[in-house]
Formats: sequence, C-alpha cells, structure tokens
Amino acid sequence: MSGSLTVVGLGPGEARYLTPAAQVALDAATDLIGYGPYVERVPPREGQLRHATDNRVEVERARHALELAAAGRRVAVVSGGDPGVFAMAAAVFEALEAGDPSWRALPITVEPGITAMLAAAARAGAPLGGDFCAISLSDNLKPWEVVTKRLRAVLEADFVISLYNPISKARPWQLGEALALAAEIRAAQTPVIFARAIGRPDERLRIMTLGEAVVAASSADMATLVMIGASGTRLIDRDGEAPFVYTPRSVASSPCATSQGRT
Ligand code: SAH
Repeated sequence: MSGSLTVVGLGPGEARYLTPAAQVALDAATDLIGYGPYVERVPPREGQLRHATDNRVEVERARHALELAAAGRRVAVVSGGDPGVFAMAAAVFEALEAGDPSWRALPITVEPGITAMLAAAARAGAPLGGDFCAISLSDNLKPWEVVTKRLRAVLEADFVISLYNPISKARPWQLGEALALAAEIRAAQTPVIFARAIGRPDERLRIMTLGEAVVAASSADMATLVMIGASGTRLIDRDGEAPFVYTPRSVASSPCATSQGRT
C-alpha cells in the first residue's frame, strides 16, 4: 500500500458543515490523527485506527503522521475549522521541512474547512463585507509584543479584526488588553461580536459595543471567536431578533488616506 497524508478541516462543529471532499478524505483514511476532541467528532469506523493526542504537541503529532504515511498508511490529520488557519496544516509543513527528505515525495494534500471566522460572520450577517484580517491572540508561539504591534497596525488601518484563541486558563488577560487597545483607537460604539461554539449545539452569538466588550472580556472562553468591527461596520436592528451586523462594501476616501496615497 502506498502511503499518503491529508490534512482535513472538519469545519466549526456539526457534521453538516463538513465538505463532501473532506468526508471523502476521512473515509479513505486508514489512520486518523488529531487533538482528542477533533478525532472524537469523526464517527468511528471499523478498521480505521484513531490516534488522539494532547493539544500542545502539534509538531510531534505531525511527525508521527508523516512517519505513518511513509510506512504506507493513508493518514488523515484532522483539525477544527480550516486546517490551514492557526492549525495542523502549518505544523505538518514545519515537520516536513525539518524532517526526513524522503517525506517530500509523499502525496500530501490539504482539505479546506469552514473556519470559525467565516462561520461566525455568517451567523451575524455580513461583517466581513469590507477588508478584514485574523489574528491569533495566543502568545505560545509568538511574543505578546508582536501581537500588540500587529493589532495596533490593523486597528489603525481600519480592518475588521477576527481574534482567534482569545483567552484560556493559561492566558487570562490577553483579550482584555487587546480590547482595551482597540478602545484607544476605535469608537466605543464600534460593534463587537463574541461568537461562541458556532455550528455546535451550545452555540451562542453576542453582539455588543466595544465599550461593553472591554468589560465583558473575561466572559469569553477558548471556544469563542471575537470580531471587532471597522469604522463602517454597523447594525440593522430588528424587532425581537438580534440585529444583523454588516460592513458595507464601499469605503469613502478619507482626506488622510488620499493625501498619503498621493505622496
Ligand atoms: N483551525 C481553526 C482555528 C483554530 S484556533 C479554524 O479554522 O476555525 C482555535 C480558536 O478558533 C478558538 O480559540 C476560537 O477562537 C476559534 N474557534 C474554533 N472553533 C470555533 C467555533 N465553532 N466557534 C467560535 N470560535 C471557534
């Protein structure tokens, strides 16, 4: 049997958000590898081996996956959301780059999934209608100074900002600091979305102002994606329903942007 490795995005939660192509990749695998809760999302199948690991050991897990593929197994490495967004696909390529040169001859593919940012945006309306970016607040793999520098730059550039990994037991203060920084640069009325466990039974979407979000930071958790609106992001209120949050596609030219653009 000739081995292969596919990094598969499982989408944000329930199986209906899994793409048909990802399902084909899961069905074809002899071995599933991933962080325990992600492996658990895939229904067990007779004859398919499951290797559930701890969350912190991504590169070891990636190396293990490559070793199995090199030994002739058809390996699916599973990730929540999209595997290329703050997830296992990059870990696989880190292991590939540093590892046995013969691994480069393996068929390695990435199957995309719906990332949390897109799932959350769709629930809220259309907050990503203009320019946007995504930042992971985790400082496990990069210094906090880099996070705040990037955050300040995109706040000043008026992007809608999606914050992944906003908070955890080991990182309790970062989200509060990030939102306080946002409040220095953006208006207190700016819409902010706390989108929790989107696509799962315990999904919860909260829409608030930036001023309220600064106070509510500690109510977010690891399953939350936080989205900070840009200056154009607005609400459409509805009776008895949550408002829609959207960002119009057009941006009026600001005197500042124009003069900078022409020098
Ligand atoms: N690869 C994943 C992201 C991994 S980083 C993806 O593409 O979605 C983990 C972070 O993603 C979490 O801390 C949270 O901020 C976000 N996240 C993942 N699933 C989510 C969901 N269902 N709802 C809201 N946020 C989610």
